[in-house]
Amino acid sequence: MTARAPIRPVIEPHMALAGGRAGGGGGDRDLPTPPVGVALVIRAASDPTISLHDLGRLIEKEPTLTVNLLKLSNSAAYSTGREVRSVGQATMLLGARTIRNISVAHAVRAMSERVNTGELDAKLFWEDSLRRACAALVIARQAGYEDPSEAFTVGLIQDLGVLMMAATRPDVSGRLQQLRTEPSQARVLGETNLIGRAHTELFVNMGRGWGLPPDLVDAVAFHHSDVLALPDRRTNRLAHIARAADLIADITQTHASGDVVLRAKAVVGQLEARAKLEVDGLVDATVAEMTAQSKDLEIHIGEQPSYQELMEGANKALVQINVSYEELTQQLEQALREKEELAAQLEKTNEALRRLATTDPLTAVGNRRSFSESIERFLVELGQHGEPLTVISLDLDKFKSINDRFGHAAGDDVLVATAQRLMANLRAQDVVGRLGGEEFGILLPKCSERDGRIVAERLRQALRVIPVRCKDGTLVPVTGSFGALTLRTAMSADAVLKAADAAMYASKMSGRDRVTWAATSPPVKIPGFR
Ligand code: GH3
Ligand code: MG
Ligand code: MG
Repeated sequence: MTARAPIRPVIEPHMALAGGRAGGGGGDRDLPTPPVGVALVIRAASDPTISLHDLGRLIEKEPTLTVNLLKLSNSAAYSTGREVRSVGQATMLLGARTIRNISVAHAVRAMSERVNTGELDAKLFWEDSLRRACAALVIARQAGYEDPSEAFTVGLIQDLGVLMMAATRPDVSGRLQQLRTEPSQARVLGETNLIGRAHTELFVNMGRGWGLPPDLVDAVAFHHSDVLALPDRRTNRLAHIARAADLIADITQTHASGDVVLRAKAVVGQLEARAKLEVDGLVDATVAEMTAQSKDLEIHIGEQPSYQELMEGANKALVQINVSYEELTQQLEQALREKEELAAQLEKTNEALRRLATTDPLTAVGNRRSFSESIERFLVELGQHGEPLTVISLDLDKFKSINDRFGHAAGDDVLVATAQRLMANLRAQDVVGRLGGEEFGILLPKCSERDGRIVAERLRQALRVIPVRCKDGTLVPVTGSFGALTLRTAMSADAVLKAADAAMYASKMSGRDRVTWAATSPPVKIPGFR
């Protein structure tokens, strides 16, 4: 045998279940071992230096192997198409590797016939094994695997661990029989729950003890693995085929649910193949192959469900899955649409709330709260960049008498018109806020005192030059008193507003309808501000 890196599931010797010599662990029952002569054939056939002549001589020493070999050489799985009548012909036509594979199948079958499997029905077991073997053969052929009959051999022996489990643990054999019709994942899980390990692990342990070819053992060991990364490409493919065969067999024999079909599609879809492999076609071919192979291998099979019956069941399950996928997708899309609509609605509502919270409802300019936020922001910017900020306070003159003379509604119209006139005479970055009744605040960022004076004068003129036309047509003359200051260093908003108000009050005191500039910077310096 050639040197190789063994990659196998770790099996602790103390946990080994199989008894006797073959199992390599202490158990309560002895498992049969392959006939010595057959073991020799397997070993010899694995030796690349052996001559076909010598291999034939070894085979002929084993009468049952010889009979079986001739039978299998002409069977649908192993035949090259030419009839084989002698061992010499068989070795010539099939080659050492196929002889090896046939010998393994023979040895395994011979051994398993000598064990008591308790409540596990051995007949049904071999029917299932044949099903997996046929599936593997069909898949290997369609995927273009080098030696389809080798895949057949692996399919035949890949679940042998189940048989040995029943033989060594009669107490769980009934449960194993029940697990038979479960899909592969459930079987493996069930076995692990029963005895702490799956049939694959058991097989590795035994197969090694029996001297079975490592590539075949590896392929079996990994036929339930989701991840296949065996270093030898051919063995890796073989394991992949065995894995797919297990799932195809599941569809033909277990209560195939749509889930099993989807799994099979996924695993089959990942197989390296020239043309795309279709699960439907593989199931079909597997069922047909079984009928042909059962005679050749003398494995009794019960009545096989027709392909149509199988696919009806599987398709129904698939259709259900597809329908629910579609429904799910639709529901999801609907939910997403609703979510987007809701988010847009929420954004609108939030925007409206923000406006409500920051806007004066009558004049639509900012309210006191947003004005405070703006002044805080401008003061921070002033602290950072040092560009002047001009702040103006405005109070309409004799507004009480406007209300008294023209009515409260006219007073409202004047307030609205005032806000509009202010806005119309300011830059986009300037801020107007209604701070109370007929009191407004104006912020002119990056605006020097010189420019601020011009702006304030313009605003005063804008108010007084044309009377406000109220909704009822009345013309109401309006003037305002302004107080202003320009800041070159930041200070607290409160102090700024107080200073502006004081200047505005000075305008009132000196006759109204005028702008007063705060004489000097407000005297109070607030800690924390530069
Ligand atoms: P001064 O020139 O000294 O500022 O005199 P004034 O009459 O403008 O000052 P005062 O503060 O005494 O009067 C303000 C008036 O503004 C009192 C109040 O009824 C009126 N007012 C406050 N808010 C509103 C409003 O929303 N709509 C109307 N129409 N009037 C308002
Ligand atoms: Mg299996
Ligand atoms: Mg007033």
